[in-house]
Amino acid sequence: SHDERNEVISNANGQILESSNLEKFTFADLKRATKNFKSDTLLGEGGFGKVYKGWIDQKTYAPSKSGSGMVVAIKKLNSGSMQGLAEWQSEVNFLGRLSHPNLVKLLGFCWEDKELLLVYEFMPKGSLENHLFRRNPNIESFSWDLRLKIAIGAARGLAFLHTSEKKVIYRDFKASNILLDEKYNAKISDFGLAKLGPSGGESHVTTRVMGTYGYAAPEYIATGHLYVKSDVYGFGVVLLEMLSGQRALDWKRPPGQRNLVEWLKPLLSHKKKLKTTIMDSRIEGQYSSKAMVQAAQLTLKCLKADPKNRPSMKEVVEVLEQIEA
Ligand code: ADP
Repeated sequence: SHDERNEVISNANGQILESSNLEKFTFADLKRATKNFKSDTLLGEGGFGKVYKGWIDQKTYAPSKSGSGMVVAIKKLNSGSMQGLAEWQSEVNFLGRLSHPNLVKLLGFCWEDKELLLVYEFMPKGSLENHLFRRNPNIESFSWDLRLKIAIGAARGLAFLHTSEKKVIYRDFKASNILLDEKYNAKISDFGLAKLGPSGGESHVTTRVMGTYGYAAPEYIATGHLYVKSDVYGFGVVLLEMLSGQRALDWKRPPGQRNLVEWLKPLLSHKKKLKTTIMDSRIEGQYSSKAMVQAAQLTLKCLKADPKNRPSMKEVVEVLEQIEA
């Protein structure tokens, strides 16, 4: 309802005021920065709105001519969606306060009457999902080394969230939420579903299971109990996608440990000539390397059915760094 919406907005405002380093944009300025939300500035569409490319002055943050100044990504929320509003609030709440090289930077927001917008740093190389699955003809090879670099960046971002003072559980870790800057540094975006970690007990009990099929941890789907380690499962799924070239969204059911071992056998057994049907042809030549065997072992650990048996993200970062070295 209208009142409900206004209440959420005024709560959001209270929190925004606390996040003092965020810039407050006017709608008129963001409209100019995107040339009136012109269709050729459209970068993509999410569940609750559209994301546009815009140009603003680096110092004053005023709109500037296209091609000059700083490029930003502007997310414009569809009006009237309560869920969208809650996610908008969550995004400002989390991203406005957290700062880390592997989290997409939220520069500011606009909040006027019916218009809710968020302004982010621009991530020119798009999402990991794009590179893995939307076979862009311009991206012929997507090497294992590059995948590993992206995995390390994303793992550092998650580890930071888990060990930050508030112990943030990200909840919706997936390839489409990992964005890439000019140098393919990975940054996690989209904090709409993030939760503050458990304060007393081990898990956070959610009333509604929300996330993405294929990436969501089995304990979370089954019980609604969300653990820091539920994010580790999502990370394992992304690793598996990187290794296998198979898209989690296409799985008919989440693979159990036995299936996984079967799939990853050629990698785990270190046998050069073993072929597998789940192989990404772009990294086929690198399949028997020691690094990939270790990555496959790590994937299996992250995907353990019992969250207690999964490594922490800090441990994951350490293993990946050692693999890269
Ligand atoms: P979803 O709801 O699907 O996670 P979003 O609404 O966050 O997606 O974003 C939709 C699309 O817009 C993304 O898939 C991505 O291609 C693009 N996008 C989002 N944020 C940025 C950014 N900071 N820089 C560049 N592109 C972005």
